[in-house]
Amino acid sequence: MEKRDFGETRPREGEKAGIYVHVPFCAKKCPYCDFYSIVGSAFIKDFVRAVQMEMAMTPSPGLFFDTLYFGGGTPSLIEPGDIGAIIEAARKKYDFPALAEITLEANPGTVTEERLRHYRIAGVNRINIGTQSFSSRNLTFLGRIHSPGQGKNAIRFARKAGFDNLGLDLIYGLPGQDESMWLEDLTQAVGLEPEHISCYMLTFEPGTPMDLNRRKGDFTPCPDDRMAGLFETTVDFLSAGGYFHYETSNFAKTGVSGKNPGNRNRYQSRHNRKYWSGVSYLGFGPSAHSFLPPVRYWNIKSVTQYLNCINRGHTPVAEKETLTREQQMMEAVYLGLRTADGIDIGKFEQKFKADFYTMFQEPLSELVDQGLLVFSGENVRLLPRGMTLLDAIAGRIFEYLVF
Ligand code: SF4
Repeated sequence: MEKRDFGETRPREGEKAGIYVHVPFCAKKCPYCDFYSIVGSAFIKDFVRAVQMEMAMTPSPGLFFDTLYFGGGTPSLIEPGDIGAIIEAARKKYDFPALAEITLEANPGTVTEERLRHYRIAGVNRINIGTQSFSSRNLTFLGRIHSPGQGKNAIRFARKAGFDNLGLDLIYGLPGQDESMWLEDLTQAVGLEPEHISCYMLTFEPGTPMDLNRRKGDFTPCPDDRMAGLFETTVDFLSAGGYFHYETSNFAKTGVSGKNPGNRNRYQSRHNRKYWSGVSYLGFGPSAHSFLPPVRYWNIKSVTQYLNCINRGHTPVAEKETLTREQQMMEAVYLGLRTADGIDIGKFEQKFKADFYTMFQEPLSELVDQGLLVFSGENVRLLPRGMTLLDAIAGRIFEYLVF
């Protein structure tokens, strides 16, 4: 077990960091999911206490925080009062403004209007609902615990409970899903008028039950070309519906005709943007990752080992790695290309003391000629078709990294 040591890290000037709390409990495991969680609620109260203790023992050298994100797992299995207690522990320990973004992920099968109202009272001001689909057939295939009706009600309940910043998640690229089926899900999602929509491609993570079934030939996965077509449909449909495509899988209302005219960032996930821009964050709970550039470290996975560790007054860090300059460059390229802003060339050059154009001239010219990438101002960014080929494009660019 490693001791936390922040001596070698320094936050960048003016940078606002994030706090992530990993809630490792689910009512039932979905067969496609490889996030760490256990089924059942036996350890929930111990976990709530332990996270507060972990916060109390974790320093934050010179960091200011403006986001707190409860992810999982299923954070909506935690009682609102306990979520409030964790928020208070964070406020007590860290430099945390009143207007911080505080997000909670909610499973539609676990929430009522009253419960959501109490999360709001506890201090949560952004809710993200794991709808995944509005089709019973799809929800059954995904092994979700909720019905399409519960998915819709969760959004309506959240609105009634006072949330004016709510998002929903959808999954596409299911076996046999065609464009018209996917458009049906998108149409229903937009009809509920969430401020934010995340659309994730179904992937088969090694070792998950769904991946084993795929290997056995129980179903035929969505072919790559159809998946790419569904991605482009998503971008076209949501853009036409007033959502700005700000990251590969994420779309947010711009606020242009709403309460904050012209504010493109208003409804983007402030917390998740930190992951794509290399900003510091602290993670709490089993398996949670933290990043204090250039150091990344992560907690032990097992809930019981995590609890034992905290109860003995030890930090629960399992491992730590210090990113090399090369690894940091690769992350800056890969994560930058995921976003609508793309890579800020000036910042890249300043950070790495490297000439971006000279280094990447050849692959970038190729990608521009192929209509996959554009230069806009000081940035270079992928076009939607380029985003469908993100991994291949990043790999091509990495061939030209000069260390
Ligand atoms: S509810 Fe979410 S975290 Fe839990 S198993 Fe399903 S997808 Fe994974």
